[in-house]
Amino acid sequence: MNYNRGLALLILLALASIGALSLYLLRPSKLNHSGAQENRPGLIIESSPGAATVALPTSPAPSPTQNSLPQDQLQAPAGSSLFVRTAYSRGRPLHQICDPAEPVSAAILAQYGALYVSEPQLVLPSNCIPTRQELSEFSRRVVFENRTIDGIQVSFQKPALDAFMGAREAASARGLSIRPNGTNATLRDYETTVEIWQRNLQAGINVHGAAAGRQTELLSPDIRLSIAVVLDLEKSGLLLGSGGGKSILQVAAPPGTSQHISGLAVDIVEHEDAQVRQIMADNGFYQTIANDFTHFTYLGLKSDQLSAVGLAPREIEGRTFYVPVL
Ligand SMILES: [Zn+2]
Repeated sequence: MNYNRGLALLILLALASIGALSLYLLRPSKLNHSGAQENRPGLIIESSPGAATVALPTSPAPSPTQNSLPQDQLQAPAGSSLFVRTAYSRGRPLHQICDPAEPVSAAILAQYGALYVSEPQLVLPSNCIPTRQELSEFSRRVVFENRTIDGIQVSFQKPALDAFMGAREAASARGLSIRPNGTNATLRDYETTVEIWQRNLQAGINVHGAAAGRQTELLSPDIRLSIAVVLDLEKSGLLLGSGGGKSILQVAAPPGTSQHISGLAVDIVEHEDAQVRQIMADNGFYQTIANDFTHFTYLGLKSDQLSAVGLAPREIEGRTFYVPVL
């Protein structure tokens, strides 16, 4: 009995030693890759026992909004739409930038959000309803380039400027022209977006007799409150855009939410010409705001990529708008 117990103890000890040795030998290697996960959020790190391999980044240039976020917030929540997943994969964690689960942000995203699935090297504000301060922070980390066209200065992020000039050349080669529609056709500052919003909103309020007594809230400097009241009124059929004929969100963007803030949008004179719209599309510019006929958004994508990033075609008056599917 004692002999058997002793033998069992020895076998147990031997097994434990083999186990400990195996764990030591199979521990994950830390050579070369230590710290990569914390410092380089664009990388995908795949681990297997005894080795770590580093895959190439899925996006060439992670957005600056990514850098301060923990790894688990860089992935779209389970069940997210293709559009939301694409935005995350391009370094734009939407639940921090423009939460699709929150009604006011979701309305902004549905109207103007196509930019979040644009080419990853394009820089976007860190909030889809930015304050003046957030917008000036954005302006400090993006480079805008200017050109003067027919006496009008245009300002874009460089890839958009190159694409716009390419579209103009292509049009010119076919005897057509593509011109910016007025002095506010491209980049706009915060104050300009406030002025455009209030002017259009006031027109809608006037048509509807002080908009059901909610004028003060509508014109509030609290932009989220203003948008919430617009959504509320429009849900009950009281449209505030274009003298009461359209949603105000399709006519003017609330302060700070305009795509023109980013240097990636342009309003053009020749938008009625289907050939011109095709040339714009060939150069990465699409109509992404339903019913905004003069407006084009630089996405930098080919037309056959649009559905794969979560944008859906919407036909309105013979044109195709590509809008986010949340
Ligand atoms: Zn526009």
